[in-house]
Amino acid sequence: MNGYDIPPDAGRSWWLREALAAEPGEPSPPLRGDITADVVILGAGYTGMWAAFHLTELQPGIDVVILEQDIAGGGASGRNGGFVNSFWGDLEYLARRFGDRPAIELCELGEDSVRAIGAFCDEHGIDAWYRADGEYVVAASEDQFGRWADGVMAADRLGVSEHFQVLAGEQMRDRIDSPVFRGALYRKLGATVHPARLARGMRRVLLERGVRLFEDTAVTRFGAGDPVVAETSGGSVRAGTAVVALNAWASHWKRFRRTLMVRGSYIVLTAPAPELLKEIGWTDGSGLADMRAAIHYVRTTPDGRIAFGVGGIQPNLARRIGPRFAYDAHAIRIGVEDLHRMFPGTLDVPLEAAWGGPIDVAGHHLPTFGTLGGGNVHYGHGYTGNGVGPAHLGGKIIAHRISGRSDPVLDLPLVDLEPLKFPPEPVRSPGALVANTAIRRKDESEDAGTEANPVIDFVAKLPRRLGYNLGP
Ligand SMILES: Cc1cc2nc3c(=O)[nH]c(=O)nc-3n(C[C@H](O)[C@H](O)[C@H](O)COP(=O)(O)OP(=O)(O)OC[C@H]3O[C@@H](n4cnc5c(N)ncnc54)[C@H](O)[C@@H]3O)c2cc1C
Repeated sequence: MNGYDIPPDAGRSWWLREALAAEPGEPSPPLRGDITADVVILGAGYTGMWAAFHLTELQPGIDVVILEQDIAGGGASGRNGGFVNSFWGDLEYLARRFGDRPAIELCELGEDSVRAIGAFCDEHGIDAWYRADGEYVVAASEDQFGRWADGVMAADRLGVSEHFQVLAGEQMRDRIDSPVFRGALYRKLGATVHPARLARGMRRVLLERGVRLFEDTAVTRFGAGDPVVAETSGGSVRAGTAVVALNAWASHWKRFRRTLMVRGSYIVLTAPAPELLKEIGWTDGSGLADMRAAIHYVRTTPDGRIAFGVGGIQPNLARRIGPRFAYDAHAIRIGVEDLHRMFPGTLDVPLEAAWGGPIDVAGHHLPTFGTLGGGNVHYGHGYTGNGVGPAHLGGKIIAHRISGRSDPVLDLPLVDLEPLKFPPEPVRSPGALVANTAIRRKDESEDAGTEANPVIDFVAKLPRRLGYNLGP
């Protein structure tokens, strides 16, 4: 990859290209004609595919149709960092918001999902590089040091502190060496995965189970009612029940416009550099994220690459998700500079790919799984860039709701969680861009060890002052 011009793959993730080369699979042609089904699912990412998977577990023989505008895994599910998490990182907020017991239950059932994803890969012969080696939340500047304190105290109070370990600067650098690391919180739970191999493996399993998948099939109109009708340019699906699993694209729907905000997240990937990884001591499958408000998330691959992600970027003021979410030269440049700052040894390592994707930001930084109107349209979104593990849980919630089977997952506080509303347009996008820029500037000041200008500091903290669980 030379320079920052849009690459020939137009921002298709390296993960997806690698997964398609490893297992191309039979193509699923677009929908042609009018068909019926028991359940129609909009979107073939993890949410839609886990919902389909759990439905086929609960009701073998159920007739499920999935409509996908791209290919399965073409959205965030085939583009992400591959951190498979539960909700332990939000424990303090969850306990404050929902109470101690519901918070612990959510973290534990979320953790079951993390394990279930590994077991699913084993059971179905999916080589998705799943490794449950935990993750580091590092302080990558003096300011970030100790930001984990509230979470650690909450864990201690709730009797789950065995999941967390605080590491001093040197202890952290002994594990993974970077000149900017000042200390870390190690969370023993959590895994990493090859996101697109997982998505494409799920696709294969669903096809084997008789789920009908139509790719290159964008839903252009959706009619709630009984039956629901999903229309596309080539035909339509009538079904008793629908699942809206559109991630950030759901923000294009009037119903979700006020409760979802779209941000970009971008990843740069180095060429294999196993010697460098050995030198810095990073030879397991652990993930690493820092404590910026707009986080960096970093992981490795078995052939010795570093995938370096930058979260929380708003590429422009556009209200629709366009090509800049798949590739944005400015975001990629930030990613490369920050990679070199964190791991200076990568200055000599060529970059091989860069891409991005949209994330569905919810005001409380938590996904919600709900049901609309007449009770036969279910949805799940709001992962705020943390959906790899939680989408498994969400698919299970949605499938149990549809099949009417009881399960502890239906008692979780994410079910029918009332979303926080963002301000309406035309205030929202420019306001969010200003706050977003201030958040990044504040992060950059902290990286440089300088005080952020008081105005920047004030604006960066506005979202939280306004009651959102977002920003510093
Ligand atoms: C760069 C990046 C890094 C990330 N890193 C992590 C991470 O490390 N860990 C983590 O937990 N989370 C991460 N995330 C978030 C995670 O990828 C998502 O939360 C998760 O994939 C959501 O799954 P989904 O099925 O809801 O969404 P998606 O996978 O986006 O699926 C939605 C699908 O709907 C399709 N669609 C949209 N409109 C239509 C339409 N009109 N008709 C038909 N189909 C349509 C899209 O093409 C897409 O395939 C990251 C996201 C990005 C972009």
